[in-house]
Order: sequence, then structure tokens, then C-alpha cells
Amino acid sequence: MAQLDALPPLRKVIDTHGLRAKKSLGQNFLLDLNLTAKIARQAGDLHACDVLEIGPGPGGLTRGLLAEGARKVLAIEKDSRCLPALQEIAAAYPGRLEVINGDALEVDPLSHLTPPIRVAANLPYNVGTELLVRWLTPKDWPPFWESLTLMFQKEVAQRIVAEPGSKAYGRLAILAQWRSEARIVMSLPPEAFTPPPKIHSAVVHLTALPEPRFPADAATLSRVVAAAFNQRRKMLRASLKGVAPDIEDRLMAAGLKPTDRAEQVSLEGFCALARVVKAA
Ligand code: SAM
Repeated sequence: MAQLDALPPLRKVIDTHGLRAKKSLGQNFLLDLNLTAKIARQAGDLHACDVLEIGPGPGGLTRGLLAEGARKVLAIEKDSRCLPALQEIAAAYPGRLEVINGDALEVDPLSHLTPPIRVAANLPYNVGTELLVRWLTPKDWPPFWESLTLMFQKEVAQRIVAEPGSKAYGRLAILAQWRSEARIVMSLPPEAFTPPPKIHSAVVHLTALPEPRFPADAATLSRVVAAAFNQRRKMLRASLKGVAPDIEDRLMAAGLKPTDRAEQVSLEGFCALARVVKAA
């Protein structure tokens, strides 16, 4: 295995520091440094950027991000057992790695970072989805991040990039694609991880757009999309009844058919509907 740096191989790091994977923390580690370097490269040119990494674990991806030239990596890790391994990496890259021992759902990293900021993570899937939704719904747009490079369960990755007419198309696709460019950039089999999870994984890369693709009020769009997909098999005139009493007229004013189902409506269509509903 090629080494990126003068640090020991990750299997040795795990043995030395007794980092037996804990299921409760969703620990499936990437130990192949060629693979972590490849994932780090998907995050784009890091030389002029600070990188926020969530869940570094023993530091495979962290080492990839630093070797790819990240100006600084801020790594937030919940498991204090990983700290000595991460401190060794910090010593090998003086002044470029800061580690916070905490829960990424609670720590506010922004005072530790200087823009431009990119985010990279191989996280437990439930935490990843929750953070993704937070990062996609900030108070102001553009957000603090230029790009997000995130490992997901393949099925979740497919929901993020899904197009209308597919089963995977829903709230997550609309949320992600309204103000970002989202692509699956890598697929990984279970054997890529130690221990291997039951499912396949995929890396999604999202780039923040300066402006939304179509104008809409964020809260109204979110309300309309949630209602439409909560009852995705129903026609819009039924699923959206609670959104406005005259929803059939509004659907038609937005250029949609009241008999359409949520799955058939494009992002542009949902934004048009959100504008008509908001104007009411
Ligand atoms: N990035 C490492 C890798 O690729 O080998 C570890 C990946 S492992 C799937 C997920 C990591 O996230 C673990 O190190 C785990 O301890 C950490 N983690 C889990 N929940 C977390 C949370 N809420 N905040 C920060 N880190 C968390």
C-alpha cells in the first residue's frame, strides 16, 4: 500500500491505539490510504481552503485531505479514543490540523474556520443525513461551505441526485438540487470498510450555487414539497389540500395539473407552485 506521509499504516494505528470499531458510533473505517486520497481529491482543489471534516476516526480521510494540500483541516470527532491517533497526524502536519472532541450535531465549527470552506466526511449515515439537511437549509444563502463531499449509504446518495419520475425522487432531491449541483462521484462496496457494513456506499459531491436555480421562498417550498411527498401516491389536488383551500386553481396557475402526483413534478414546477402559494 502506498504511503501518503511518514505516518504508520492505518492498521497499525488502530492496533497501537486499541481502536476496535464501535457499532454505536457507526464506525466503519477506511484503512486504504489510496482510497482516502481518492475521496479527498473529489473535494476539489484544497490548497486555498479550510476543510471541515466530521468523524475523522483514526484519520484515513484526514491524512488524504492534508496530503492533498488542505490549508487547514478542522476535524470534529465524538470518540475520544481516536484523539491520540489524530494528534500524531497533527504533529506530522504542523499548524494544519485542529481536532475538536465533540458531537458534530452540537459543536459550532465556524469560529474555527476561515473561508473558503469545504466539507468532507465519512460519517454514520443517520448523522450524515441530518447534517446534510442542516447544511442545505441555512438562514442565508450562499452558505458557509463551497462544497460538501460526503459518504452515504448508496440508497441515500441516489435520493440526493434523483430526477423526477423515479422512486428515489423526493424531498431530499429537491432540497439538494434547488441551490446546489449534486453528483455521485464514487461508489464503494462493503469490503472497502473495516468492518464491512451490510450495504453499498457512495460519495456525493455537492457544490453550492450562488443563487437558487428557480426563485422561491425556502419555507413555502419546504412546506409544499413535504405535503406533496407525504402522500406521494395521491394526486396533488388531494395531497396539497391542507396547503391552500383553492389548491386546484393554484396548481393550474403554477402550470401544474391537479391530477399529477408529486413524483412527476420537476424542481421548477415545485418552485412555481411555492411562488403562487406564497403570493396568496
Ligand atoms: N472518517 C473515518 C474513516 O473514514 O475511516 C471514520 C468513519 S466512521 C464511518 C464514522 C466516524 O464518525 C467515527 O469515527 C465515529 O466515532 C464518528 N462519529 C459518529 N457520530 C459522530 C458525531 N455525532 N459527531 C462527530 N463524530 C461522530
